[in-house]
Amino acid sequence: MLFDKFHEECGVFAVYGHPEAANLAHLGLHALQHRGQESAGIASSDGKEIYCHKAMGHIADIFTAGVLNQLPGHMAIGHTRYSTAGDTALLNAQPFAVSCGKGKVAVAHNGNLTNAQELRRDLEEQGSIFQASSDTEVILHLVARSNQRTLEGALREALLDIQGAFSLVFLAEDRLIVARDPHGFRPLAMGQLKLTDGTTAYVFASETCAFDLIDARYVGEVQPGEMVIVGPAGVWREMYTPAKERAQCVFEHVYFSRPDSIVFGRAVQESREQLGRLLARESPAEADIVVPVPDSGVSAALGFSSASDIPFRHGLIRNHYVGRTFIEPSQAIRHFGVRLKLNPVRQLLDGKRVVLVDDSLVRGTTMRKIVRMVRDAGAVEVHVRISCPPTVSPCFYGVDTPTKDELIAANETIDEIREHIGADTLAYLSLEGLRRAVADTDHHYCYACYTGSYPTQLVNVEELMMSRPNR
Ligand code: AMP
Repeated sequence: MLFDKFHEECGVFAVYGHPEAANLAHLGLHALQHRGQESAGIASSDGKEIYCHKAMGHIADIFTAGVLNQLPGHMAIGHTRYSTAGDTALLNAQPFAVSCGKGKVAVAHNGNLTNAQELRRDLEEQGSIFQASSDTEVILHLVARSNQRTLEGALREALLDIQGAFSLVFLAEDRLIVARDPHGFRPLAMGQLKLTDGTTAYVFASETCAFDLIDARYVGEVQPGEMVIVGPAGVWREMYTPAKERAQCVFEHVYFSRPDSIVFGRAVQESREQLGRLLARESPAEADIVVPVPDSGVSAALGFSSASDIPFRHGLIRNHYVGRTFIEPSQAIRHFGVRLKLNPVRQLLDGKRVVLVDDSLVRGTTMRKIVRMVRDAGAVEVHVRISCPPTVSPCFYGVDTPTKDELIAANETIDEIREHIGADTLAYLSLEGLRRAVADTDHHYCYACYTGSYPTQLVNVEELMMSRPNR
């Protein structure tokens, strides 16, 4: 059986040495909720047993006091996940917890393995039985099959077999182990928390906004190719493999991470505003107001406004409580779908020349609806500015992008896209502008979605394409 989907767009969290570990994981995951809203889970350990709870839905709904009481212990890992809905969604929810020859172990993963299909086929030929379709299970099977005596040894071996993007958190009975792939595609930050009894708890998270909520102090990144073990003997850091050419996901700074996070050692807010400032310098517009597409375009729009001296206005208001499905009344409502989420402020837009700023265009469907809505609210000109280059290639390293034929910029010229979305003008930030905005002087970032040039060898591109989820 092949994977029916990759696990995409996830957030991971881990804590060691805190009496309320599961509760901290709960809070950490709450801060990482934007990285995935479909399912979530926490596994905890008291040094002997591993306890695990996972479910579909949002963190706040899943982890009630009753559920958290069932997750005792001083260490925990957590995961929040975006995936396409379907029968297998809960089966693929993480953490995965198993009992094997190396003891009890649980794992949670952010990223995509690019050789998971091959590894899975090999493992199945050797008799491994898989329960889910997620590639994370492959890692557990590799660990279970290893001839190494210790869990660390087995993990080291498994980490050398897998390829692609992975920021991993493992829970063994008495230890926490975290690791990052040698390219460093996905972020993984490390923090510390001083307890009232003078001891130190260690925390790890996809983004530092998870630390702020629990009063933990950010101490730095887990390095690409590094493994950190935290256990009764203290903290042990080692390079399980030499770091390779850095390929930090630039989309974390463009869209995915929260602006209040430090990601890859850099404040996301700084990057976002800079994206907007450089965009304004590269592609100015004559306009009366700068309006962000909330929330994703807000920081870049602030940057655009400050660099262009055009006032920033909240001309679109977002409803944050949009549920899953709404049945459209049979009397068709204009802009029904998009208006569930966004509503224009006519008083601000009427008669105005508007610069609309968003972080990215993927299929172009959302922007087309927004432009129409803004015009209907009285805007006389609409100039669309996108704070990244045209998205021309799918990501195989953990960001959910559709296949190439659905990526509008892979198939149409800028002017065709402008026409499609109905804008008076359209401009994207240049690749060079993006590099400057994230201060990438050392070529540490991956830009594959904008260039089509992938930093790792992709063996079965066809198969990887086939297994893309639909967003
Ligand atoms: P589209 O209608 O496909 O052009 O959607 C573009 C919108 O989706 C933009 O407002 C982005 O903020 C948002 N977006 C871009 N990439 C992603 C992603 N990987 N996951 C979720 N939303 C995204």
